[in-house]
Amino acid sequence: MSNHDVSDELLNQIETIRVQYKQRLVADRRKLSSILNGLTTETVEQCVENLHRILHSMSGSAGTFGFEDVGTESRRIDEILKKISTEQTSENKNTLVQLIKDEVTSFCELLSSTEILEEHNTTQSLRARSSKSPAQIDTPEHDEDIEVWLIEEDKTLAEQFSKQLVNFNFKIRTIELGQALEEAGIKGWPDATILDMDGYDFSELVDTNNAFYVKHESPGGLIMLSENDDFEQRMKAAKARALSFMKKPVAFPELIGHLEVVLNRKKVEPPRVMLIDDDKELCSLLKLELESEGMRVNILSDIKNIIPELAEFRPELLLLDMEMPDYSGIDIALLVRQHVQFESLPIVYLSAEQDIDKQAEALLFNADDFLVKPILYQQLISSIRSRIQRARVLNQLISKDGLTGLLKHAAIKEQAELEVKRAQREASPVSIVMLDIDHFKRVNDTYGHATGDTVIASVATLLRHRLRSTDIIGRYGGEEFMVILPNTPETAAFKVIDTIRKVFSEMEFVADENVFNCTFSGGCVCSEDFNSNVNASELTEEADKALYLSKNNGRNRVSKRVQNV
Ligand code: GH3
Ligand code: MG
Ligand code: MG
Ligand code: MG
Repeated sequence: MSNHDVSDELLNQIETIRVQYKQRLVADRRKLSSILNGLTTETVEQCVENLHRILHSMSGSAGTFGFEDVGTESRRIDEILKKISTEQTSENKNTLVQLIKDEVTSFCELLSSTEILEEHNTTQSLRARSSKSPAQIDTPEHDEDIEVWLIEEDKTLAEQFSKQLVNFNFKIRTIELGQALEEAGIKGWPDATILDMDGYDFSELVDTNNAFYVKHESPGGLIMLSENDDFEQRMKAAKARALSFMKKPVAFPELIGHLEVVLNRKKVEPPRVMLIDDDKELCSLLKLELESEGMRVNILSDIKNIIPELAEFRPELLLLDMEMPDYSGIDIALLVRQHVQFESLPIVYLSAEQDIDKQAEALLFNADDFLVKPILYQQLISSIRSRIQRARVLNQLISKDGLTGLLKHAAIKEQAELEVKRAQREASPVSIVMLDIDHFKRVNDTYGHATGDTVIASVATLLRHRLRSTDIIGRYGGEEFMVILPNTPETAAFKVIDTIRKVFSEMEFVADENVFNCTFSGGCVCSEDFNSNVNASELTEEADKALYLSKNNGRNRVSKRVQNV
């Protein structure tokens, strides 16, 4: 689908929601009129409350849908109503009733005229909001989609590298420098480029403005290699906008490490946002707009089910309306925070509340930001992005292991529990695998701890690139790993892990003058082979048993569930 189509489709969807919103305004106008019909000095308190509900909600959303006048007027009248209800003006109810009647009647007239006249305005403002094409969501489902160009004059080295890179599921292409420049000029650079500098005169190729190669755009993910790593050479690489520089001879696991760093800078997982607002049309519009920015958005479907829904969707940010019929935003934020796992979930209030004191009070109750409706679109987007970015950095520090970038022990265990529960709910199979590097003590003892670390990191990288993005990988202990494969029966899990085992056993590690191989053993079980209420720790224990069977049977193998005799 071209950008143009996507943009058109988005516009159509927005148009549909806008039509629904218009219908709601018509219905609200009728409700307002009928409240006015029942307005007397006796019913004034109740009527003020009912009018407030409608007008407050309208003041929050009308502007967003392009009905600026309606938004401003409803906010002004809502302020008057608020004064009436808080200041207890007992003096002259007749005057009050008349005031309310006058204000609301003229507001209903504005609504009637808006129904006919708004057409031009709204379409234009909505068109302006959505005229840019939706952000490209650029997250390949499988790592096979990651294309790497290898520019290497040394044919033997080129062959070695590409053989190994294929093992990590990279789509690798060996290419001449001239050809690469030509193709990149037409189609752009691939996800990553590995370029051996030796043999090229780079000073000719970099212009005085430091741009990479005169006439050519800089590659996004460039790794440069050279035997010479003095200042001059490194500066050439920097001027060519290389993100990474490696001195030859290059240890393969290190190259993979550099590749991952380079690729990670480009890989942006779509931010996940959960939306809670009683205003259905506003929810739908926000969802569409955030999605067009490349985010994933869920609207909470059942407030009573909020905790399971949060656990399932794992939002990185909660957008929460302040005023809703049965529960306030503060009530919901406090309830969410009662659950330890959501203690650090960023919460942003969306509200038609203009009162600074009330905003400040709301922020005291566990929220991170407060955005006033009608929402400024760019402010909303940047607020969401920056909060999620910060939360990601913090989460990375808290839950990811420094050496491997995999989930730490506690985090992977938590994921296992969630996934096993989910599998039960959805009646789908989930496989759990435990891996342990064989005779790892020997690696440390023979080649040193640093080399040992490289081996551990390589297993992690191999798992990351060979498994699906939906699989979850953790460093369970020192040289022990856990893999969770949702929606996967034992046979399929066994097959993929056993292939990884084989690939790993063929990888060559270099320590000083020595080249050596390493292996791992695994144990693999699946929830569907146990009774339906088996829990994550039972499954882990069973996977451990299978792992030890592999160890006992000679290592470098994967075993399935150990059947009790
Ligand atoms: P087996 O095949 O039975 O698993 O033998 P093994 O030698 O792998 O098992 P053992 O549990 O005896 O040794 C694991 C070693 O892993 C011991 C520990 O020093 C080492 N280790 C644990 N964490 C790290 C780490 O982060 N880096 C390095 N280099 N070594 C580690
Ligand atoms: Mg509301
Ligand atoms: Mg071991
Ligand atoms: Mg061990």
